[in-house]
Order: sequence, then structure tokens, then C-alpha cells
Amino acid sequence: MAESTSLSPAEAFELLLSGNQRFVAGTPEHPNQDATRRAEIAPAQRPFSVLFGCSDSRLAAEIIFDRGLGDLFVVRTAGHVVGSEVLGSVEYGVEVLDCPLVVVLGHDACGAVAAACAALDDGTVPGGYIRDVVERVTPSVLAARAAGRLEADEILAEHVSRSVDLLLDRSRLLAERVAAGTAAVVGLCYRLADGSARLVAARGLDVGVTAV
Ligand SMILES: [Zn+2]
Repeated sequence: MAESTSLSPAEAFELLLSGNQRFVAGTPEHPNQDATRRAEIAPAQRPFSVLFGCSDSRLAAEIIFDRGLGDLFVVRTAGHVVGSEVLGSVEYGVEVLDCPLVVVLGHDACGAVAAACAALDDGTVPGGYIRDVVERVTPSVLAARAAGRLEADEILAEHVSRSVDLLLDRSRLLAERVAAGTAAVVGLCYRLADGSARLVAARGLDVGVTAV
């Protein structure tokens, strides 16, 4: 069985941010990546954060947050679109593994967001199940445009923020934990060029959100 992490949502967020700052600065410590850590956590995992992000290959979770084995419970889909398996995985991380933090991680130049914009602009709809991904990003693009938020950064922030809200709307377990103060959900926009992660949404955490 997993042991409970002792971190608060705010402490977990600080831990994650400090790792990203090391990565951005080019001074990573690569914590928890050795044989000792591997052996230590083999009997049970107790990650301090659920990380739900885009599948983009440049968004490798443990690298960009400078963490290691057993630290992050990672769920990734193209465009971080939400379906039942995503919700179940996030709930597992929060309810069973007792993670105090859920992070939604989007990034600039996201192919899924670009495809949703293209679908709206010229009717280009991809085939197969890629279409399902694009269709789940489209409401975010429509909402951003309706609000006059037309820049790529603004559309991305809208999609990340709506993904945060969607998790809370769909998952009663998660919403209850946030209401009780035992978990928080944050939305981050990652910049591919410099590796920085900007906070654009926070639920259950008293931190400043960057205006876009
Ligand atoms: Zn992406």
C-alpha cells in the first residue's frame, strides 16, 4: 500500500517549482534517480504530485521539473484532453496515492491546439482518433476567441485553465479534496524554448496567477 505523503498542497507546489527553476537555470540536481531510491520505493510509491500534461516529447515530466523515481504520478495525452481514463488515473493519484497536488501542464506551439485552430479556421479535420483529440480542444479555442483572447499564449492559457476546471467539474473525488484543503489543482503553461512554467490557474491554492 502507498504511504501518505506528508506535504501540503502548497509545499508540493513549491517542490515542483523549485525543480523547474533548477532546470531552467541549467543546474539540475537529478534527485531520486539512483539505485538507492529505486530500492527504497520498490515496495510502495508515494508521489507528491499528479502531473497531467500534453504528450509532446519535449515535455518530459521528470526532466523539466528535475525530479526522479516515485516523485510524480504522470498522466499524459495529446493536448492534455480529458477522458474517462484520464479522470480515473487522476483520481487514483489523488485518492489512493494521496497526492496533495494535481498539475495540468500545457505548452506553447502545441500541435493539438494548432490543429483545433485549423479545424475552426478552414475546416481541416484530421482522420482517425486524432479527430477526437482535436474536438476536445476546440471548446477552449472557441471560448478564448469569444472572449477576444486571440494570441497563441492566450488560447493556450484558456485551454489549460479549462482543463483544470474540467477535472474539477467531472471528478467529485477531486473536487471534495480541493474543498477540504487536502489537494489543489494548478494549471501551468510551459515554454519550450526556455523551459519555464508559468502559473495560469489555481484551485485550492492561494498563489498569484499570472495575467495573460
Ligand atoms: Zn502539446
